[in-house]
Amino acid sequence: MSRQTQAIIHADAIIQNFKVLAALAPHSQSMAVIKADAYGHGAVNVARMLKHVSPRFAVAIIEEAIALRHAGITAPIIVLEGAHQRKECEMAAAHNCILVTHNEQQLSWIKACAVAERPQVWLKVDSGMHRLGFSIDDVEDILHKYKHAGVLNDNSVLVTHLACADDNENPFTERQIERFMQLAKRTHLGVSVANSPATIQWPESRGCWNRLGVAVYGGFRETSLSLAPAMTLRSSIIALRQVPKGESVGYGQTWTAQQNSKIATVGIGYADGYPRHCPNGTPVAVNGQPASLAGRVSMDMITIDVTHLPNVAIGDSVELWGENVSIGEVAEAAGTIDYELMTRVSARVPRIVK
Ligand code: PLP
Repeated sequence: MSRQTQAIIHADAIIQNFKVLAALAPHSQSMAVIKADAYGHGAVNVARMLKHVSPRFAVAIIEEAIALRHAGITAPIIVLEGAHQRKECEMAAAHNCILVTHNEQQLSWIKACAVAERPQVWLKVDSGMHRLGFSIDDVEDILHKYKHAGVLNDNSVLVTHLACADDNENPFTERQIERFMQLAKRTHLGVSVANSPATIQWPESRGCWNRLGVAVYGGFRETSLSLAPAMTLRSSIIALRQVPKGESVGYGQTWTAQQNSKIATVGIGYADGYPRHCPNGTPVAVNGQPASLAGRVSMDMITIDVTHLPNVAIGDSVELWGENVSIGEVAEAAGTIDYELMTRVSARVPRIVK
């Protein structure tokens, strides 16, 4: 029996989620964020799935964009971190990529390129997250200087990122949006503010271009929207044993049987991206039935308590997250967020597009 550990990627869910999210903002355009291999779902496949609904795509770094070009993806690609070295500016132009520049070094690299070899440029503005971008106070001077130099133009878009968009009551988000939108009004340029949580719950952040990431993949489900999980991570039972009351299971003896128990060993571990920090009791589903982790997560295996399931057998299917177990619940148990779980499913796990 070959190892049954797989990430099933649900193309219908990805397409439907994108459409539902984009429909929230009918007066703006939306692009799918497919950085980090489309949050672990496979960037080339996701770009192909969304080619009729997402007119552009966003990635973090130029290498991700070039890999998409090599796979035949032709839509314009926004590179959210801009260029890390001068030659990346020419590469961006050659591959029809738009660079989101966040410092003057990047703008001066572009200025130094031959006019025909300059990429399109958007400008990142630091509206309060203090991670990347020009200070709001400097933007108008920068625009003046680099429009004059032929680097920026009226099609350049002002981009910012919200620190707390997932919290629908945070007053800081209101302030960030307001300050940024005032700047945008003065400059008469298009804007891109909203990630997927903001598109869902901060309508005033919707701009010319919304950048839809995690919710396209069925994450960020604290919403009344019906978003479907895009990935089912599954494996199978590779061993079964009776463990008498009082015996412990796994590394460090973190789980002890409170009764005579049946323990199933499942062929997935932290080397596959299942979080080692998942504690005892983290939910899984065996043949669609609820069960839970019993013992520490190992590199290639986990152990689960199936005492209450009479008919389990070696080879039975175990879902780690997907339709029956929410990825958000597993993330919470592991003390992290669904973004991290999605992006950490390792290369050892084949992605099967359904
Ligand atoms: N825009 C930027 C600059 C980002 O860094 C990200 C994701 O980290 C996104 C958009 C997409 O955000 P989300 O996945 O929350 O929709």
